[in-house]
Amino acid sequence: MNFIYGQREWHCRGSKYTRCFFSNTLQNIKMKKVHIKQSVISEIRKLQRLPHESNGKITIDEDGEVDKWTHRKGQTMEACTSGCILNYHTHPPDYENLYPDHPSSTDMKYIYHATCSRREVGSHLIFTPKYIYAINFSCKTYKRSFSNFWGLRRKIDQLFEELAAAHDRASESFRTTWLNELRLIGFVIREFRYTERVEFESPTVPTLTINTQDILIVLVLILTSLYVANVLAVRT
Ligand SMILES: [Zn+2]
Repeated sequence: MNFIYGQREWHCRGSKYTRCFFSNTLQNIKMKKVHIKQSVISEIRKLQRLPHESNGKITIDEDGEVDKWTHRKGQTMEACTSGCILNYHTHPPDYENLYPDHPSSTDMKYIYHATCSRREVGSHLIFTPKYIYAINFSCKTYKRSFSNFWGLRRKIDQLFEELAAAHDRASESFRTTWLNELRLIGFVIREFRYTERVEFESPTVPTLTINTQDILIVLVLILTSLYVANVLAVRT
């Protein structure tokens, strides 16, 4: 049995013990126009210029403007609970040991996971020395399954290795080819310069809301099954 509840598609299998699991509904992803105001960009840019990575969450209000944002030191992304449409991390300006102006393959695997398979955030932002990227994986066009999950991760690594062997990773040709190839496999990537207005359409995240009506329906179902079980027990 399959049914859609909220923004999730539930699949239930089995006769004796029913097991249910869900996937995201492919049609039902709502988009929202978001704008990161200049004052927030400037503050995050200060973090980006530090010699270590920072990361944080950004909540957006009804009008698509930044409501609150957080920051902390480190590479491990803070988990987003509901209401957190965006999160971000920074790339320090270390051109000696790193290639900071493009997303890494680890970044892309994280983004696939966070914006599609787990749908924890709508989009992920990366603040590099030259660019601001807003990236999400287009779940709409991608049929999700366990094999795809591993397939996509492998594909990202493979792409990265091939391109890194053919181009100088510090070059503009590596950066543009890498971004274009990622777009072909389903990533939506917008890039901005620091002087540009950072405004884009982001998918929103599903919020699981349980209202009193749902609780009542569940209660009625439980009571009915208890009643039926009782009646059957009496008859036998
Ligand atoms: Zn990164």
